Amino acid sequence: MSLIGQPVTILGAGVAGLALARALALRGASVTVLEQADAIREVGAGLQISPNGATVLRALGLPLDRISTRAAAVELRDGFDNSRVLRLDLARLRPDMGWHFVHRADLIDLLASGARDAGVVIRLLTKIDRVDLGGDRPRAITAQGVEIDTPLLIGADGLHSAARAALSGVVAPFFTHQVAWRALLPSLPGEPNVAEVHMGPGRHIVSYPLRGGTLRNIVAVEERRRWVEEGWTLRDDPLDLRLAFEAFSPRVRGWLEQVQDVWLWGLFRHPVAKRWHAILPKGAMAILGDAAHPTLPFLAQGANMALEDAWALAQALATTDSHAAALVAYQTLRAPRTARIVEAANASARAYHLSGPTRSLAHTALRLGGAVAPGLALKRYDWIYRHDVTA
Ligand SMILES: Cc1cc2nc3c(=O)[nH]c(=O)nc-3n(C[C@H](O)[C@H](O)[C@H](O)COP(=O)(O)OP(=O)(O)OC[C@H]3O[C@@H](n4cnc5c(N)ncnc54)[C@H](O)[C@@H]3O)c2cc1C
Repeated sequence: MSLIGQPVTILGAGVAGLALARALALRGASVTVLEQADAIREVGAGLQISPNGATVLRALGLPLDRISTRAAAVELRDGFDNSRVLRLDLARLRPDMGWHFVHRADLIDLLASGARDAGVVIRLLTKIDRVDLGGDRPRAITAQGVEIDTPLLIGADGLHSAARAALSGVVAPFFTHQVAWRALLPSLPGEPNVAEVHMGPGRHIVSYPLRGGTLRNIVAVEERRRWVEEGWTLRDDPLDLRLAFEAFSPRVRGWLEQVQDVWLWGLFRHPVAKRWHAILPKGAMAILGDAAHPTLPFLAQGANMALEDAWALAQALATTDSHAAALVAYQTLRAPRTARIVEAANASARAYHLSGPTRSLAHTALRLGGAVAPGLALKRYDWIYRHDVTA
């Protein structure tokens, strides 16, 4: 189906919405993105873009290398004494593939300017209150009651998606009894380009350099009973973070001493959406990214899956005869893979949090495995990283 001149309205100017907007506009569609925020800006935080996501950015003609730091390795360390448990030497084991550390704001800037360059219109301060699928065409209704009626509506509106709610209702997520703190610190260039995972009973911390080593990203996870809200906006006292990791090595404590602003995020499990699309008499709607399959962050795949979805959806729309055929093909392609990744992230949730004899045994096994077959741990995830949705 030719997309030339096809009007498309996308809800949400996040990773999924902006990548899809550029992908569709490059194929000739007339794309409008509606975003609730008053500016295209992101909370300060890092993202790891793995080869499967980097492939999509490359196919969209966007220079990821210009805004990212190439990861040399991932290291698992004992949180208490900083000894190395396992090193995955990405540059040596997979020289043909690239893992990247990127500031979210830089990725959003790259995607937004890429979308605008391709002719996309981004309308800010447009919060969609609800989506109505009861008529001939999908309608997005703003908080002020303005109705946007469109032949093709795409929900890229993230975790609390109005589009997903219109398709399948609201399903209460399940609190995993884990929280994640996120913080950025100033740093001196010269630190290795390594993602370090420092592990302790009931908690771990992931850290890597950003922006040429001038910043350091911290994601710290702790198991706890008390419920915490899921979202980007809840601040916490840096002291709580320091206390949670006070038994960790001087390296970790040194980072946490410098934390001035920290955000807390309750980690919830959401089911992957059962319905990803609706076909109406004169229109259609689909969802992608976190709107379709929010994931726990343990495999760092949320944004990578959003990029893959964007490519797959644009390609399906461009290469099938009708919206109905395209959207069925899109869900058939994407639902099994994203469900498998979400499940793998769920299963990894407590792998870094072992205690007692299990912890010593697991660390010994990892040390031995790393010495004997250093590529094995990475090979387990080849199905994620080697996947090329653009092929
Ligand atoms: C602690 C943590 C660490 C993470 N680390 C990584 C990582 O290293 N690598 C990785 O790949 N992923 C990571 N993720 C996941 C990643 O951040 C998300 O999966 C990704 O941002 C999803 O993109 P999206 O475009 O679907 O949603 P979002 O980025 O949430 O974008 C949704 C957009 O829609 C807008 N919007 C929402 N509702 C409305 C509305 N009603 N009307 C109008 N606009 C609306 C929002 O303002 C936003 O701009 C992490 C997540 C967490 C919590």
